Amino acid sequence: MAKAASVKTKPNKRTAKKPTKGQEKNKPRVKKSKRAKTPGHGKGYDKKIIALVYDFDGTLSPRPMQEYAFLPKIGVDAGAFWAEANRISREEGADVLITYMHLMYQKAKAAGVVVNRDDLVAQGKDVEFYPGVEDWFKKVEDYATSVAGGDGVTLRHYLISSGLSEIVEGTSIYSKFHNVFASEYWFDAYELPYPKRVITDTGKTQYLFRINKGLEDMGESINEHMDEDLRPVPFANMIYFGDGDTDVPSMAVMRKNGGHAIAVHTPGGDDAKCVNLFKAGRVDFYAGADYRLGSDLYQRTCLLIDRIVADIRVREETWHMASRLK
Ligand SMILES: [Mg+2]
Repeated sequence: MAKAASVKTKPNKRTAKKPTKGQEKNKPRVKKSKRAKTPGHGKGYDKKIIALVYDFDGTLSPRPMQEYAFLPKIGVDAGAFWAEANRISREEGADVLITYMHLMYQKAKAAGVVVNRDDLVAQGKDVEFYPGVEDWFKKVEDYATSVAGGDGVTLRHYLISSGLSEIVEGTSIYSKFHNVFASEYWFDAYELPYPKRVITDTGKTQYLFRINKGLEDMGESINEHMDEDLRPVPFANMIYFGDGDTDVPSMAVMRKNGGHAIAVHTPGGDDAKCVNLFKAGRVDFYAGADYRLGSDLYQRTCLLIDRIVADIRVREETWHMASRLK
């Protein structure tokens, strides 16, 4: 398997290098020139990237990421905080995500706590994960390598989260992702931290199309038409992992476009939401959020990887046959 190293910009470099004022802090990691080659322009069939795309809160970590350090730091009860954000959002007709980002800032100010980028990044180290998450990424990469052999298949991990990219940056798993799309503050824009990017439930689907079209640079327009055979990561090569209602738009986009989705629930906990998603045809599988080797989640993910690798081989053979006829 060709490791993603050739196209992966090490995320930790972003934190190490301080951007100059006014410069985009959350630079895309994938330079245009290093994007997956467009099929037809390379020497052989090159749509061999498998993309595993994850939600964060409730999928990789049991609780929303703000609850591990930020809310305790400002002495605010998590249940009360989310209830207040939802109430204000309803009363004001405001987007709930913009509301929570503003409320975080307001509550911190009231508690005399400064909200800045470095603090939020530092809080990432307190985020906890479901069992096996930290070792999961390498294990499924190894599995894909063992299935695909020397066929040049590359497995990448992506994160699409409504949570805060600054907190994600400080977690132990940040470097595992090829790219992270998450909500983000703009600290030096105005007198208060201002939402730079807000990723809503439906907005998440934009990033699925960005991965699909190879347009991960936020400066590139996603709206222009691109023929299916020019898209470097077909939906059929993608698996989306989510935990509930907020993932329904993403799961629907995946499934309608020939992609795959898996719903997770607290291990040993209530699986009613997952059962409903499964019955509604939103997901291929569901399982407890146990990411350890041999778990139901691991085995069902491996089944989908088997299928994706087989699909890639079939499409590659078709591509070679068609090429010879030209
Ligand atoms: Mg979630």
